[in-house]
Amino acid sequence: MSLTALWELQNLYLEKVELEQSLNTAEGKKLYGEKHQILNHMAALKQQEEKITGEKSLLKKLEDKYAELTVKYKSAEEHLYSGDVKNPKELAGIEQQIELLKKELDSCEEELLLLTEKVEEDTKKLEQEKKVLDKRKQDYKAKVNKYLSGKKQLEERLKQIRQEIINTEKTVSPELLNLYNRKKQRLGFKVLSLVQKKTCSACHMVIPSLILKEVKQGNQLVTCENCGRILYWG
Ligand SMILES: [Zn+2]
Repeated sequence: MSLTALWELQNLYLEKVELEQSLNTAEGKKLYGEKHQILNHMAALKQQEEKITGEKSLLKKLEDKYAELTVKYKSAEEHLYSGDVKNPKELAGIEQQIELLKKELDSCEEELLLLTEKVEEDTKKLEQEKKVLDKRKQDYKAKVNKYLSGKKQLEERLKQIRQEIINTEKTVSPELLNLYNRKKQRLGFKVLSLVQKKTCSACHMVIPSLILKEVKQGNQLVTCENCGRILYWG
């Protein structure tokens, strides 16, 4: 009784299971998670960009304020030195106004400098982050392509195997196939066990020589006394 066809069939079943497992690996999920991380990164950068836009508009307002104060300051100074003001009280009032304007100008200038620095710093940081994100996107794209082409190959092989299984099943006697299917419920797809170095390769039990002889002769089905698998002499 030849077990060769059944052995081939079992190998096809095992390869099919392995392929199906490979197709269901976490790789797809991992990539999906990575995509979300990238989207979050993009959203964070957009927020950063909006923050800079806000800072720039504040900067513009400060610049306007500074220009306005400068005009006021100059005109107050001109007024002071014009010689038109004679009244000491009025003079003192203008001097006080000039002093106040100067203080305001100084503090406005300081604010302007700080904000300008901050805008520059934030813009630089954003540019760097954008570069990181671009690299990340590229890496992700490459990974997705690799994943998809690998998946396609696996799917093609799986399709092939399904057809090979149908063809091979036809070459195994119905009785043997029935027996295999019955035993499969208990043992899984590894119903046949290859004899290697006088042991059952599935459970590693040493096979008594008398039984070994029977397996070699191949006149009848011999099962492993330990694990119950059909012993196959390859
Ligand atoms: Zn065994």
